[in-house]
Amino acid sequence: MARLIFITGGVVSSLGKGLASAALGATLQARGYTVRLRKLDPYLNVDPGTMSPSQHGEVYVTDDGAETDLDLGHYERFTGVASSRADNVTAGRIYQEIIAKERRGGYLGSTIQVIPHVTDAIKEFVMKDHGGVDFLLCEIGGTVGDIEGLPFFEAIRQLGNELGPDQTAFVHLTLVPYIMSAGELKTKPTQHSVKELRSIGIQPDIILCRSDIEIPVEDRRKIALFCNVRPECVIPALNLDTIYNAPVRYHEAGLDTQVLKVFGIENAPPPDLSRWQNVVDRVLKPEGTVKIAVVGKYMQVKDSYKSLTEALTHGGLAHNVKVEIEWIESEIFEKDDSAVYLEEMHGILVPGGFGERGAEGKIAAAKFARERDVPYFGICFGMQMAVIEAARHLAGLEDAGSTEFSAARGKAPTHPVVCLMTEWTKGNDVERRSASGDLGGTMRLGAYDAILSPGSRVAEIYGSNNISERHRHRFEVNIDYRAQLESNGLVFSGLSPDGVLPEIVEIPTHPWFVGVQFHPELKSKPLDPHPLFASFIGAAVAQSRLV
Ligand code: GLN
Repeated sequence: MARLIFITGGVVSSLGKGLASAALGATLQARGYTVRLRKLDPYLNVDPGTMSPSQHGEVYVTDDGAETDLDLGHYERFTGVASSRADNVTAGRIYQEIIAKERRGGYLGSTIQVIPHVTDAIKEFVMKDHGGVDFLLCEIGGTVGDIEGLPFFEAIRQLGNELGPDQTAFVHLTLVPYIMSAGELKTKPTQHSVKELRSIGIQPDIILCRSDIEIPVEDRRKIALFCNVRPECVIPALNLDTIYNAPVRYHEAGLDTQVLKVFGIENAPPPDLSRWQNVVDRVLKPEGTVKIAVVGKYMQVKDSYKSLTEALTHGGLAHNVKVEIEWIESEIFEKDDSAVYLEEMHGILVPGGFGERGAEGKIAAAKFARERDVPYFGICFGMQMAVIEAARHLAGLEDAGSTEFSAARGKAPTHPVVCLMTEWTKGNDVERRSASGDLGGTMRLGAYDAILSPGSRVAEIYGSNNISERHRHRFEVNIDYRAQLESNGLVFSGLSPDGVLPEIVEIPTHPWFVGVQFHPELKSKPLDPHPLFASFIGAAVAQSRLV
């Protein structure tokens, strides 16, 4: 059975619990162990799919079509292990299942309570389908003391008790702030946080302390004494020059060694972190810089495009360049001349998005890229906007648009080049959608195959004519306009296997103009940059030599 490592957080949120979990997973892997990571989210949404990215950051999509927390993206990027629906659960989903079972009469007349029914459901989720790994790392969202979090902490406390100390480890991440006026680091918030954790019955084995500066040994001893752990189990987690340094630095600080000791493993093979060191060296010593404009919405919260930012960095790693991202609110292109903002750029990327606000600005950005021969990468909504642009300005279909905007505009476009597809096939199954369906969980979600045209730019980039990529969208490019668009230069170079859904468009005569209906950023990894991002950044490098 897998050994369980629970990762909790205290003091404040945003300390990087997801990253710490992912990095710990990577160090264990580097020692030859197999790992799997899971996230328990205490909020009441059934999944983050309906939450605004500006509140909750990006929605990460798994192969099996689950809309999950963005921490699962960190897990995949650091461990390369594809996550699934079984790796993220929310209080909302737990309650939904319990209430549905109660309505079916599944509890045979008993009173449904947080303990044991909710905690049992949480434990069942944690213990299900480990796939034979050596370690399951399980992160609890939020911070200790949050009211929603209590059933989750109670459930992992019970698991600790049931499985015993040689099967479970508790890692608690806290903050040791530096108080400028006192000129000192303060251990009190950590002490309070651990006190809170112990009051609900959990004694942490390891305390990982985020700090801006080195934590002196006396402070670590103090934390150890007050929090009832061994001094070597108080581990400093200092700020990192790049997040990809986390596996190396956390290992140097002793994190994985101490975790293994908790399980009584004293003589584990040392980790081979050379691949991570190599990534760090490349990130820190680039041979050049390219500037990429990301023209989108939700620009204030960078977490809304977490995987995208990472994938661009990976593209840079493939060419030894630093990718400088210029975040541009697309709405400005609806008022000003876009050239001023885009002239200096070596590549333009329009990412995924929803709704009419800012859409015309994205269309303007695609037009600029097409006309000025600047590399253009349209992802999902960014592909749809490029198709509208080409329909209007290459094919002369003046009122081309997306039916996504019909309600906002009060009328459907004359040429619905992007529209709702009501039916398509996946394997042997027919999938259907309707405009009146629920918003949650009803998009085209998860991995779908696509067939690429032999000899196309994308087939060359992938080195294959068959690919599988992850989707998250409701609307599709309208296949009925294929001939008209292709005869004007925009080629449909990737289609769903049934030929109904356009998956990729490209302009063969342009230096690099590609739109994809899926989200390639979700599968890019520092140790294995996604070919489309690597190729796009390669084109941006070529562009940087021209401007
Ligand atoms: N809003 C578009 C759709 O639903 C695009 C979605 C996206 O970019 N993820 O089809």
